[in-house]
Amino acid sequence: MMNTHDLTTKPLIGCMAYRKTSAQTYPAPVFGLTTSYVEAIAEAGGAPVMIPLGLDEPALRVILTRLDGLLLTGGGDIDPAEYGGDRAELVHDIDPDRDRVELFLAREAMVRHKPFLAICRGHQILNVALGGTLYEDLMTIMPRAIKHDFFGELPRNYQAHEVTIRPESKLAAIIGRSAVAVNSLHHQGIRDLAPDLVATAFAPDGLIEGVEAPAHPFAVGVQWHPENLIHDNPSMLDLFRGLVGAALANQAPEPSLIS
Ligand code: MN
Repeated sequence: MMNTHDLTTKPLIGCMAYRKTSAQTYPAPVFGLTTSYVEAIAEAGGAPVMIPLGLDEPALRVILTRLDGLLLTGGGDIDPAEYGGDRAELVHDIDPDRDRVELFLAREAMVRHKPFLAICRGHQILNVALGGTLYEDLMTIMPRAIKHDFFGELPRNYQAHEVTIRPESKLAAIIGRSAVAVNSLHHQGIRDLAPDLVATAFAPDGLIEGVEAPAHPFAVGVQWHPENLIHDNPSMLDLFRGLVGAALANQAPEPSLIS
């Protein structure tokens, strides 16, 4: 017998997919979701589902309404045209449809106070969605940038640099320390911070590696990949627990439970 109470104990977390081509004999376009995100959400007590691309805004609104929380995942670069950038030669892996879908969902999640965690590309999407800008390529443009792009060179849990954490932030409450070692799998970063965000973590070169929206129940962005560090540092799983906890608090009551 189904216990209706179970429906309200695991919040439904929508995780953004990316677009790729299957490696089958007859290659076909597919939507993918890296398994480490799914495992981290599940380990934190959430029920993950994948949000595909290519959907129109009415469909995305319906999906977001059913979700209790959202995970904006990593991926390729955002089209610089979305933030007034002019260094298109420095970017790669542009997917205009993914930009459209994620910028829409980030803005909707802000307006609706829907809890979300934004990782790497997601952290950048959040900033651009709210009017911020990016460095198209840190090593080319950002003064005194350290190396942030360890993509493909070392294991994804390689702890490349520390971030210092602003004490009065949600991030500080979650991590529980004033500094933490993180992985670094990005070549871009936040340049101008969006007006509604505050910076919560900084790399040694000053790059903003954490953001949050103070007026929102849980709008947290990190430039690193905590899903690859949950077995190295338990506080990285706490980021996902933070999302799941906020999503649970946000969860709409089941219609059958309303008297
Ligand atoms: Mn970094």
